[in-house]
Amino acid sequence: MFEKILIANRGEIALRVQRACRELGIKTVAVHSEADKEAKYVKLADESVCIGPAASNLSYLNIPAVISAAEVTDAQAIHPGYGFLSENADFAERVEQSGFVFIGPRAETIRLMGDKVSAKDAMKKAGVPCVPGSEGALPDDPAEIIKTAKRVGYPVIIKAAGGGGGRGMRVVHTEAALVNAVAMTKAEAQAAFGNPMVYMEKFLENPRHIEIQILADQHGNAVYLGDRDCSMQRRHQKIIEEAPSPLLSARVRDKIGERCAEACRKIKYRGAGTFEFLYENGEFYFIEMNTRLQVEHTVTEMITGLDLVQQQIFVANGEKLKFRQKDIVLRGHAIECRINAEDPYNFVPSPGKISTFHMPGGPGVRIDTHAYSGYTVPSNYDSMIGKLITYGATREQAIARMRIALSEMMVDGIKTNIPLHADLMADAAFHLGGTSIHYLEQKLGIGHNK
Ligand code: ADP
Repeated sequence: MFEKILIANRGEIALRVQRACRELGIKTVAVHSEADKEAKYVKLADESVCIGPAASNLSYLNIPAVISAAEVTDAQAIHPGYGFLSENADFAERVEQSGFVFIGPRAETIRLMGDKVSAKDAMKKAGVPCVPGSEGALPDDPAEIIKTAKRVGYPVIIKAAGGGGGRGMRVVHTEAALVNAVAMTKAEAQAAFGNPMVYMEKFLENPRHIEIQILADQHGNAVYLGDRDCSMQRRHQKIIEEAPSPLLSARVRDKIGERCAEACRKIKYRGAGTFEFLYENGEFYFIEMNTRLQVEHTVTEMITGLDLVQQQIFVANGEKLKFRQKDIVLRGHAIECRINAEDPYNFVPSPGKISTFHMPGGPGVRIDTHAYSGYTVPSNYDSMIGKLITYGATREQAIARMRIALSEMMVDGIKTNIPLHADLMADAAFHLGGTSIHYLEQKLGIGHNK
């Protein structure tokens, strides 16, 4: 087993990975920017290395700085967390070329899935159902674009091949707006992702976002660890996730899960990964694969009893999965609320010093956070300051525990979205079994194309 792992990330996920390592007796190296030098998890790590100033592109995204930190500390493997370099194929390649183990899939898999056009193509070939749309990237010829949209049927959504984080998408309702919308999305995609390629999909009006967690070793074994429903979204970004989806029967879940596991065997996938689908009228439509740990991996951990970060480490160490599909039993229900430092209703980020930080507790309550009383939320990064997860024997119990936990939670000094979560836990449509991906924006009175 590895003796020392470098964690190339920050915030709650840096702490989460550190905890998994400590339990396994593995030493940890925290890398951090100047803005994070006082963070608790940096102090808790066995070693820490400052890799640059606050700006992410000079620190957390600085590949040579991360690799030198691994060299000077003699770490054997690098865990990238989520975001930052976690889906950067060049980084994965450089890590392995420098003699370290990358805790994640092979660079070529990351590259294949990082381009959504090639990912969809690979999934179609592997027998995974996809959203109807253009065959590959859209051509430049306006007549061809118009023809494609006619075939797909309005409304359509134009998406950047290199997009991520809910960015680089535009919904088009009419032919009059189409060609201009494609040009604008291309220009934005070039500016944001350095890749102007865009493709077209049918815009689904009432879908759920349902994803399948998979885990595969380097010996051809792959299992699926159930599903998650992440339909409560704003601007294509998840804010509440739960497992399992209240919508799926065990039979439907197993069928799509087995397809995903089979696709992993076909593409020789290694590590943890997520197949994201939109689900409408009983059909699944693949939208993308994430080749890393997800923010919402926690709800899967609660219902499977597995530690997904430790599983990633075992696989990276070359071990075989210690269980087969029939050994995976889903028990109970789990919900996660992402706690963000932001105004609960206009979503303006609210960085600053936290004066009081009081967390709830009790049966079935889990908190993953790096924050504490006196902690200053830097303005340089994502606004998520932690995750509140509740578990119950039933969905009703998980919701009840979430309502109580939210009412006990106190974060003063900055604004948070706790009041929004409290509202949503009392929402009738959510109670009845969840909502479509457009529900929250409709409820808040904002359009989905903003
Ligand atoms: P990202 O990589 O930016 O997360 P995804 O392709 O995973 O992009 O899509 C993110 C979200 O955007 C989905 O969960 C859904 O809300 C919305 N979305 C994407 N494709 C479609 C579509 N064809 N129809 C309707 N909504 C879509």
